[in-house]
Formats: sequence, C-alpha cells, structure tokens
Amino acid sequence: MTDNLDGPGIPGPDVIEVPDVSPLIPLRDLVVFPYLVAPISVGRPASILALDEAIETNRKVVLLSQKDSKIEAPGPDDLYEIGTLSIILRMARLENEVRVLAQGLTRVRIKKFLESDDIFRVEIEEIPEVKTKDNTVQALMKTVIEQFKRCTTMGKNISQEMLMAADGIEEPGMLADMVATNLDLSVEEKQEILETIDPEARLKKVVGFLAKELDVLSISSKIQNQAQVELGKAHREYVLREQLKAIQKELGEGDDKGQEIEEFREKIEESMMPEEVRDKAEKELKRLERMHPDSAESSVVRTYLDWLTNIPWNISSQDNLDILHVEKILNEDHYGLDKIKERLLEYLSVKKIKPDMKSPILCFVGPPGTGKTSLGMSIARAIGRKFVRSSLGGVRDEAEIRGHRRTYVGALPGRIIQGIRDAGSNNPVFMLDEIDKLGSDFRGDPSSAMLEVLDPEQNMSFSDHYLEVQFDLSKVMFIATANLPDTIPPPLMDRMEVIHLSSYTEREKVEIARRHLYPKQLGNHGLYPKQLKISKSGYQAIIRGYTREAGVRNLERTIATLCRKVTRRIATNDKGPFRVTGKNITDFLGHHIYSSKESFAYDRPGVATGLAWTSVGGEVLYVEARRMHGKGGLTITGHVGKVMQESAMAALTFIRSNAERLGLDPKFYEDQEIHVHVPAGAIPKDGPSAGVTIASALVSLFTGRRVRRNVAMTGEITLSGKVLPIGGVKEKALAAYRYGIYNLIIPKANESHIEDIPEEVRNKMKFYFASDIWDVLNISLEKKKASAEKTSTKEVVSFKIAKPKKAPKKKSASKSSNGDLKKRKSAGKSRPRPRPSA
Ligand code: ADP
Repeated sequence: MTDNLDGPGIPGPDVIEVPDVSPLIPLRDLVVFPYLVAPISVGRPASILALDEAIETNRKVVLLSQKDSKIEAPGPDDLYEIGTLSIILRMARLENEVRVLAQGLTRVRIKKFLESDDIFRVEIEEIPEVKTKDNTVQALMKTVIEQFKRCTTMGKNISQEMLMAADGIEEPGMLADMVATNLDLSVEEKQEILETIDPEARLKKVVGFLAKELDVLSISSKIQNQAQVELGKAHREYVLREQLKAIQKELGEGDDKGQEIEEFREKIEESMMPEEVRDKAEKELKRLERMHPDSAESSVVRTYLDWLTNIPWNISSQDNLDILHVEKILNEDHYGLDKIKERLLEYLSVKKIKPDMKSPILCFVGPPGTGKTSLGMSIARAIGRKFVRSSLGGVRDEAEIRGHRRTYVGALPGRIIQGIRDAGSNNPVFMLDEIDKLGSDFRGDPSSAMLEVLDPEQNMSFSDHYLEVQFDLSKVMFIATANLPDTIPPPLMDRMEVIHLSSYTEREKVEIARRHLYPKQLGNHGLYPKQLKISKSGYQAIIRGYTREAGVRNLERTIATLCRKVTRRIATNDKGPFRVTGKNITDFLGHHIYSSKESFAYDRPGVATGLAWTSVGGEVLYVEARRMHGKGGLTITGHVGKVMQESAMAALTFIRSNAERLGLDPKFYEDQEIHVHVPAGAIPKDGPSAGVTIASALVSLFTGRRVRRNVAMTGEITLSGKVLPIGGVKEKALAAYRYGIYNLIIPKANESHIEDIPEEVRNKMKFYFASDIWDVLNISLEKKKASAEKTSTKEVVSFKIAKPKKAPKKKSASKSSNGDLKKRKSAGKSRPRPRPSA
C-alpha cells in the first residue's frame, strides 16, 4: 500500500515550524541533508513506530545517523548529536519494511532523548542556516561548481538536472550540502559536513573532498585507459594477423601455414605444458608465423615445436602396486630368478608404502639372453607403466644423451627425451641397455650426463640441450643393464644397486624352453601344441648340440627354426604331428654345431684349458704353446691384450727361475723360441686370469708331460708362483660344465665363491683350490712324460704330484698329500656322471 502524502499542506523550506519534541529514526549508512530528498528504507520496529507517530501528527521526523551501522538497537550514545528534521513525502508499506521518501528541512541539535520503551522521541532545537555572501564565499562557491562539473567530465555519474540545479543555488550552505550528497563520501565525512554550521567552512571542506574525488577519478580513468590500450593491442594484433593471412593467401602461401599455426596453437593448449615451456613454445610460434614457410629456419622451428608439443609433460600412468598381482605377472613371464624377483618385489613394496622415497636405480648385470630386458618389460606390464628402452652401447658423445643444441644442423633431443616421448607418459619403466659399454672421448663424457639422469637428487630438473627447458625425470623408473660390472664408470656404479643375473644351467634352460620359449614360438608361428611336440631329450639335444651360451637367446632362436621347419612341412602337405626328440633332432636342424668331444689337440704337451669371464658369460679358452729353435724369445698371439701378455711373461719368468725344481736344464731357454697362442684368434682376450693356464701350458711343453684334458683352470700368477684370486667363478664353472669339463682348479682365495654355483652343477664338479702354481701343476699335469714328444729336460721331475687322481669318496673337502691342496666334492655324487652331451 502506498500512501501518497504529497500535496498541499507540505510547508516550504523557508516556513519551517520546528516542534520541540519529535519522533526520531536512527539512520544506518546514510546522512540526510536539509532541502534534499532521500529514499529511506525503515525496518526496525521502533523506527516504524516513530514513522507512524510522525504520519499521525505533522509528518515530521528527525533523521539522525548512527555512529556504527552494525548496532541493531542504538542508544543515545550510539547516535550523533546533529541530525536533520525531515518531512515524509511518500511511503509504501512492504512485507518487512516501509519505503519512505523524505525531504530534509533543517539542521537540528538533539537537546534531550526522552525516556520511552519502544520509541525514540527527542527534544530538539533548530540550527538556522547562516546567511553570508562575502567574496571568499562566492569564490568558494565558484570553485565548488567548477570542480563538480569536472567530476562529470572525468566519468562521474551525475545527472544533467543536478548540475543545472547546482548552478542555480545561491545559498552557500545549501550548495555545499547538495554537492556533498552527490560525492562518494563515508558516513563520517558526510556527518562532518552536516555538523559544520559555518557555510564558508562547510564549502572549504567540500572543496577538499571534491579534490580528493577528482584525484581518484583521474587515477581510475588512467587505469581504464591502460586496460583499453592493452585490449586495443590484442585487437590490433588480431587485425594484423588477419591481414597477414590475407596477404599470404594472395601470395599462395597462406592457407597451409595459417592452419599449421592454428594446429600448433591448439597442440600447445592441449599439451598441458608447464608455464615456462608454454612461454617458450609461444615465442617460437610467433617466430614461425613471421617466417616464410619454405625457409630452412622455419622447418627447424617446426620440428622444435613438434617436439615440445609431443612430450608428455603432464601425462602419467596410474601405478598398480598390488604386490601379489606383480608377483603373479613376474612368475608368469619368467622361470626361476627367484632372488631377483624377490628383490624387485621388495623394491616395489617400498614404493607402495612410501611413494616419495628416492629409491636406488636398479642395474641388472648378466650375460646376454638371461632375461634382463624381458624382466624390465615384465615389471612395466605388472605395474601398468609404459616401457621404453635405449641402448647406450657405443655411445661416446654426451649429446646423444642430452641432445644437440639447436644451432646444429639436424639437431635432435637426446635419447632420454626421445624415450620419454616414445613412451607417451612421464613415468615409464626406462631401460638403459649396455651401460657398461658407454664410451668417452673428445666429444664429451656421456657418463656425466647419465649421472644427472640417474641421480634422484638432480633428475627432477634434467635439462636437454635441444629442448632448452627442463624436464622432470624423477617419476621415471630407470633400470640399467650391463654384461659385466667392471666397465661401468664408477660414479655411475655408485648410484645403482647391482642385481646379478647369472648363466642358466641346462636344467633351467630346459624348463625355460618348455614353459616359455616353446609356447611363445608356437604362437609366433601359428602352430598348435598338438602339431609340434619337443621331448626333454629334444631340448637337451638343442642345448648341447646347437647352442652354447650363457643365456637362452640362441635356444629361443633354434626353437623358432624348428617351428619354421615344421610350418614348412605342414605347408607342403606333411600333416604331422611332429615330435622332436634327441634322436631325430638332426632331421630338423641338421648336424650338431657343437660337440662335447673337443677336436682340440690334447695329445701333445703344451696345451692347457683355461676359463675366461667375458661379456657373454663364462667361456672355455685354450692355451697352446710351442717351441722352436731360436734365440730365446716369447711370442704371444690370438688377439691378446696387454695384461694377458704380461701374464705370459710372468709365467715364463717363473719357469726360468724354477728350472731346476721343474727338472729342466737351466739353460733350456737359450736356444729356443717360444710361441704361445690362444685360439679363436679373432676374439679379443685380456685379463690376468689366464696366468695359471699359460704357466701350465709352458711347463707341460718343457717337461713333456701333457695337461689333463678334463681339467680347466683359472687364476692369476705372480713371479714367485703365488696364485691370486680372480672374478667370475660362478660363470666360469658354468662354462666348464657346458663344455663337459668337470675338474676345476681355482685360486684358494676364491674357495667361498663356489657356494654361488647352482647346486646342480656344484654336485657334479670337482674343485681344486690352489694357493701357488705347484698346486696347479700337481693337478693339471699327467704324471708321465708323453712318449712321442721330445723334450730337452731330464727324465726326473722334482715337484710333487697330487696323489688321488680319482675323486675322493668323502663328502667333505679333504686334504691331499701336499697339505695345501684341497679337493671338494659335494654329498654323495662321487661317481662321474656322463658328460651332458656324451
Ligand atoms: P638380455 O636382455 O639379458 O640379453 P632378454 O631379456 O632379451 O635377455 O632375453 C632373451 C629371451 O629369453 C627373451 O625372450 C626372454 O623372454 C627369454 N628369457 C630369458 N630368461 C628367461 C626366464 N628366466 N624365463 C623365461 N624366459 C626367459
């Protein structure tokens, strides 16, 4: 309901009757000035009662501001002392409030608050407006009007009518009040104006407030202008770009390029790259836009942008660290390797429980074909990560790891970033193959770049020279592989945990072939198990006759050959089924490549069997010595390295200095020349561990006593004949076993290492532990001189021969006659078994 109270009877401002007592409405956030009209919303019950009383009497009410607008029921102390007696022009009652339009009449001072429970009534006295019009006041009025107008030109929203009204006001106080109402002032500031009775002082205050307002207006217009300039720049760029497109289109080069730029822009958007990379990409994109599309430089930029947008900056796969599931997958993919699987599961368990722990980089060390790579793949499959590998073999240039700078023609990122891009996620399992074959030369040291890659402390900010921006490698699970630990650069070795994978025994190979390689190859060749069966003897025949390796790679290849042969037969209407056994294997694979009966000439003195540890696992190696008429020289051939040559010289010196004890003529050497050859002359050989073998071959040559053909030996010798420990006992033993040699002479200092040899092999072999070369000779040389060979020595030999030639029947190691020499043979396996390939 609206009460229109306007109309005759409303007194004009100059004929104001000021009552002594009037109801009061406290105002929040508002000051009402005399003569001015203000809309007020009245909601508090006491205020509504006051309003009602005013309406019932003379429509006059005192409007007085509250000091603190938060106070709901203000007392006399919460109100200012000077307010405005106002008249109510109009009112409308709504649900919870009454809207009132009131006009101020005159300033009043509150003399007294009258006691009442539910309504404010006050005794008031009028503060009449002082009339003055001196020059200062006039000047002030002029300033106020000018400044007020300036405000509108600077963007303040003041209506035209208001400006005209201001122009027309002649009363200085009234002008001040009117302008103050229209300024953005706080309640305190407005109240200050209200309380300033002297018109001159009031005008001065208003001038001050106006100046402040103008200042704020000018700052905000400056900010607005700036924003507009920036907006204008973007718009200008857009227009120019459109024009450029049009020009390029005219020139016949536009469309593709524009599309390309757009595509790059989208890719940058989609690639979720970090801020720093994004800035870089956008900068390059701008460069590309300005280039001719056929220029060489533009193709460089294009390739660069391709790289930047294709790197998975923020794409990770979710790990599945359910350890039982991982264990199942590892067992599904690989036979044996129990210790290694165990270690891997421990590693992953730690990752599961403490994901942020910086875990060591694993390094699988072992001969080729022992499952290093496929274990890596298996881990990736088990935990649900992507898998990538990169071979470091033969990498000599640091740039291969870290990329070439873009200034080089054909520059690309290094292998690490390439691998990450190929993986398509920033947390793949990354296999670094052949880390032992990293080289270094004048082009820089790649191992130092690898250090940065593998160091968990540094690799969160790996920098590639090509990318020029950093990439976080800390989520990647690196696994390195190597064949031998010796050649891994020591600082790298320091950052890795080495896990050894050793050669497989024949029994293991049969199982791997049966459970894994055979089903895999059958599947690859589209055969059913019914069509091709391989018996255990068939597998053994393949292992013995067609492969001779530490791992199972050739075995897998030979099974593949077998599958191929069978497929061929099936394709030519021989339906099969085929069953491959030890007996009929030659029908499929032809003659055996290897035989356990070595064709090597053992029937002469001067030939000894040694053992080597190479990158392909253990190897049997023969040493052959011959002498001829000459002037006492020593030649050693067979692609032999320096260390091995020196071993030969040491062996010769030892023999010469012990000629008498060996039963040789002290001058035996003077008119002879000696040649030591290590066959398989094309394969490089080195290392000190052939010392005892060369010594045995030489002693055999000079004494005419042959080296026993079923003994293999390894050990370094000193000039005084001491035998020093060597590495790779396990691999060497497995190699001898593969060759069907079951007697092994190894340095005494290596005695504990035979525990590492698989039981299956250990039980079949006899180990002799030598602390000096005499121990070796006692075992390795036959007692009698070979009759056919002429030697220059006397018949008598002065060193002792080990007594039992046959294996002792005792379980534990026993002492031989010379006290130093021990032979060990494991529980109850004394009866010599047939050789694997016999
Ligand atoms: P490496 O990387 O050590 O040279 P690979 O991982 O390439 O060897 O292994 C060669 C082949 O032998 C692969 O097909 C692999 O699956 C298989 N292999 C090796 N060891 C085992 C094993 N213990 N169980 C099942 N398969 C194996």
